[in-house]
Amino acid sequence: MEFKDFGLAEPITKALASKNYVTPTPIQQKAIPVLLDGRDLCGIAQTGTGKTAAFALPSLDFFARHPKPTPIKGCRMLVLAPTRELAAQIAQSFRDYGRFLRLSVETVFGGVPIGKQIRALQAGVDIVVATPGRLLDLIDQRAMTLKDVEIFVLDEADQMMDMGFIQPLKRIAKMLPQGRQNLFFSATMPKEIEALAAQFLNDPVKVSVAPQATTAERIRQQATFVNQAEKQALLTITVKDEAINRALIFTRTKHGADRVVRFLEGAGIPAAAIHGNKSQGQRTTALQAFRDGRVKLLVATDIAARGIDVSGVSHVINFELPNVAEQYVHRIGRTARAGAEGIAISFVADDERPYLKAIERTTRVKLDIVPLPDNFMEAVRNLPKAAPKKEQTPQQQARRADGQRRYQDGQKRGTPDRAHRPDAEGGEKRPFRRRRSGSVGAHKGAVQRTGAPR
Ligand code: AMP
Repeated sequence: MEFKDFGLAEPITKALASKNYVTPTPIQQKAIPVLLDGRDLCGIAQTGTGKTAAFALPSLDFFARHPKPTPIKGCRMLVLAPTRELAAQIAQSFRDYGRFLRLSVETVFGGVPIGKQIRALQAGVDIVVATPGRLLDLIDQRAMTLKDVEIFVLDEADQMMDMGFIQPLKRIAKMLPQGRQNLFFSATMPKEIEALAAQFLNDPVKVSVAPQATTAERIRQQATFVNQAEKQALLTITVKDEAINRALIFTRTKHGADRVVRFLEGAGIPAAAIHGNKSQGQRTTALQAFRDGRVKLLVATDIAARGIDVSGVSHVINFELPNVAEQYVHRIGRTARAGAEGIAISFVADDERPYLKAIERTTRVKLDIVPLPDNFMEAVRNLPKAAPKKEQTPQQQARRADGQRRYQDGQKRGTPDRAHRPDAEGGEKRPFRRRRSGSVGAHKGAVQRTGAPR
């Protein structure tokens, strides 16, 4: 089967040809005909399976055949994604596949000024790709309406649930008009995701390209048992020894991600980190450097890495195992994309052994246990120090300065206050009375009344 067999509108087949796409992936083969028929769809598919094109192509075909003016402050298609990176990536796919169509595509997500998004929406757009939080902000500010949505896509539904987006999604579901086409994608389909799907879908066709939580077969999966404190030494050896083209290294925490980068840098190995504490600009820069191949190692937390599509990731290294088995499936799905082979290496500390068991149970795959390398003890002994902490970002500096200023203000205000207490001078020092919680507003008022320096 080839793309031309779908009978997609000519501008779309032209765009596909320019990207050298000839054969649809399995999810595309199953989903595209159903969607061209206008049916709702429930798809079980991981990132890397080609699911973005599976929903983008038939939607673009619909718009090519049914042109309409864009609805004021509204959109004809809404795609919801859990992270900014994934939203940006999906929007780019729409722009690529729709480059010979005159359609507008906008992204709506936090971390960037809202004003620009409000202006972009004023006259309406064809396709909006959004994260739930910012979308609701815009709706609450009456800068956007969902009443004109003709096609709705919920992508990576299981990740949305993990990130606590359930209430925002329920709110959004209520605002969508009747009679629209709905698409729902998730890598896994436990009961609660099925219940969520039921809120959006109307007699859907179900398609699945990998049985639930089955790990991609092309990925070689290994695990090494190692003390938590010695993982850094093992990582240093691993990234030097393995023929790494691009590696994504996962840590459980943001702090952990920064630490790993500093240790790698201390050993003279360039690496970048992306996680929620980084500004949007830093995240984009790090991701771009990784995409361009300027940085071979990207250290990420699960949330930040969600849906990231970078081709040619040869290795996924789990510096720490995730405590949710499905997360492991998501992580290793970042390698072995589009037909390539991939290697997933997990560092397992003693207290992570139960997680390993759970992963093996869920994926029904036994990981190859690889012993510590011969030069491991030497690497532990000679592990270079971590590079010093980087300068803080302007935002972090501002936040810190603000905290210090407030603390100093508190001290200043405290002094006259204490001086007026009859027993303040000469007497025994009474502990400074703690402000009652919830009195921040009153406190601010006090500052204004007394005119104390801010
Ligand atoms: P996705 O699962 O949507 O994130 O897509 C994974 C990757 O495969 C993306 O880089 C796509 O550009 C690429 N891709 C999607 N469909 C095809 C196709 N039919 N042929 C070749 N590459 C594709």
